[in-house]
Amino acid sequence: MRSVLSLVFIGVLGALIGSFGNVVIYRLPRQESIVFPGSHCPHCGHQLSALELIPIISWLALRGRCRNCRQGISPRYPLIEALMAAGFVLIIWRWPLELYSFTALPLLVIYAMLVMMSGIDIDQQILPDSLTLPAIALALAGSLLYAPDSGLPRLNEAIFAAALGAGIIVLINRLGGLILRRFSDTKERLWPIGMDQVNIAALGGVLGGWRWGLGLALASLIANLATRRTLHISEPALYGLWFVGLIFGSTGLWLSPLTALNGTLLAAGVVAIVGAAFWWLRDLGKKIEVAESDEADEEPIAMGFGDVKLAAILGAVLGWQNLLVALLLSFIFGALGGLILRAFGGGRQVPFGPYLTLGGLVALFYGTSLLSWYLGLLGL
Ligand SMILES: [Zn+2]
Repeated sequence: MRSVLSLVFIGVLGALIGSFGNVVIYRLPRQESIVFPGSHCPHCGHQLSALELIPIISWLALRGRCRNCRQGISPRYPLIEALMAAGFVLIIWRWPLELYSFTALPLLVIYAMLVMMSGIDIDQQILPDSLTLPAIALALAGSLLYAPDSGLPRLNEAIFAAALGAGIIVLINRLGGLILRRFSDTKERLWPIGMDQVNIAALGGVLGGWRWGLGLALASLIANLATRRTLHISEPALYGLWFVGLIFGSTGLWLSPLTALNGTLLAAGVVAIVGAAFWWLRDLGKKIEVAESDEADEEPIAMGFGDVKLAAILGAVLGWQNLLVALLLSFIFGALGGLILRAFGGGRQVPFGPYLTLGGLVALFYGTSLLSWYLGLLGL
């Protein structure tokens, strides 16, 4: 079924995209053009010729040194190229065009974007909106191309899981931040839409389901616009109330526990993504000097806001079951990675994004088998 030729072809294509990915990883956070000028040695500026630009092979042939100045070129360049090639081959191996028609296409694009995001996150500790937000839209639209038997979500399932992913991480962000601040209020205030609306959506969702969450967030947005200022609700008080709502919700008194939990996660997740998209589109025209202007200003955060958008991408690709597998795996990978880095004295902090991506990729290929294995263990 799967022709060796098509796998070789896709591997070479992956390596080439990986080579382009290296350029994006380096230049995108520095707001440099990703097409011009051509690739050059980071030490002496020597312009690379076509022969020096062959993915992986050029680096090996030159033994990892610049041909001009003989200075070392980081092994991460061929590594990213090999990673991209391997991922492309795996995706086409799992979803060959002959069997699943265009299922693999959106997956290839999103995989390439995920590798670039991880590289940037490791380098700069940011996940740029110009990659994450388009990737969410692409992952949602891509679900329309999936073959019915591909094991991938339909559009409505993709939207649900994207909101769920964003909601889980944004609530970890809000509650974790609250604990790290020792339950004092946050300083973040954005007009007209910001964390206030996320918090209100979370509260409305836990009290009345996701429609209430979205409705109350919309009402507070309109109130902000009408009064031209940010109507401030103290975060400790709001999450105090939220906690009470969660306890009552879990008793099933007026909502089923699942409706309350889904309500708070979905509403908060949707508002977080809509808010992020608003600020990205608003700032798109201008050249912003400080990229992190929309991040919490020096406040302790449990998990970066970029991870919220990343979780939405993974949700849209994986569907909710595999998303939960991915999140669980990423926490395990993150803990193991942290231990290993500490043991080997690697002083550098690795952000959570790459662990989340790794968890997502494992879940993409093995989520269903892992889930049935785990449920088997539980005797379900
Ligand atoms: Zn050089």
